[in-house]
Amino acid sequence: MIESIEVLKRLQSLKSKINELEECQERRKQDVQKKKTQIEDKKTLAEKKHEEKRSIQKEIDRKELDLKTDEGEISKYNVQLNSIKTNKEYTALCSEIGSKKADMSILEDDILSTMSRLESVNEEYNKLQEDLRCEDESLKDLTKSVDADVKETNIEIEKTQNDQKKYIDALDEYSLNHYNRLSNIKGGKAIVAVVDNMCGGCSMKITAQTLNVLMGGKELVFCQSCSRILYLEEK
Ligand SMILES: [Zn+2]
Repeated sequence: MIESIEVLKRLQSLKSKINELEECQERRKQDVQKKKTQIEDKKTLAEKKHEEKRSIQKEIDRKELDLKTDEGEISKYNVQLNSIKTNKEYTALCSEIGSKKADMSILEDDILSTMSRLESVNEEYNKLQEDLRCEDESLKDLTKSVDADVKETNIEIEKTQNDQKKYIDALDEYSLNHYNRLSNIKGGKAIVAVVDNMCGGCSMKITAQTLNVLMGGKELVFCQSCSRILYLEEK
C-alpha cells in the first residue's frame, strides 16, 4: 500500500502539471485573441475617422459652392450698377453688395476653419492607419510565437500523459477508482499529507485510530471529514 501511495502522489502531480500546461496554453491563446480585439477596435475607429473626413469634405464643398453663388450675385449686381438711373437705387444696390461681401468674408473664414478641422482629422486617420500596420505586424509575430509555444507544450503534455499511463498501469483497480473519483470532485487534490495530525486537505484533526492505521501502511486511509486519501509525510 505504501507503494500505491507513492504512485498516487506521482499521478496527482502529473495531473496538476498537465493542468498547468493547459492553462498556460490557454493564456497564450488569449493573448492573441486580446491583440485581435484591440486591432478590430482600432479598425472601427479608423472607419469612423474616414467617415468623418468624408463628411467634413462635403461640408467644405457645399460652403465653396455657396461662396461661388455669392460671387456670381455680386458680379450680377455690378453689371446692374451700370444701368441704374436714380441715386436711391444706386445706394440700395451698393448696400446690398456690401452686405453680400460681408457674408462672403464670414463664409471664407468658416471654410478655412473647416479645412483645418479636416486636416487634423486627416492626421488622426493617418496615424491610426500607421498604428494598424504596426499592430498587424506584431500580431503576426505574436501568433507565430504562440503557435510554436502551443506546439511545444502539446509535446510536453503528451509526454506527461504517457508517464501518467505508466503509473495508472502500475496501480491496483481499487486505489485507481478512489483516486479518479476523488480527483474529479476535489479539484485534482485526491491525496493529501497529514501535517501536525491534521488533514492537509480540510485541516480536520486526524484521530489516533486513523493515525495508527496510517502508520500500519497496509490499506488506503481516508479523511473522515473530506474523504480524501491520506498519507504520512516522511520526516
Ligand atoms: Zn480532510
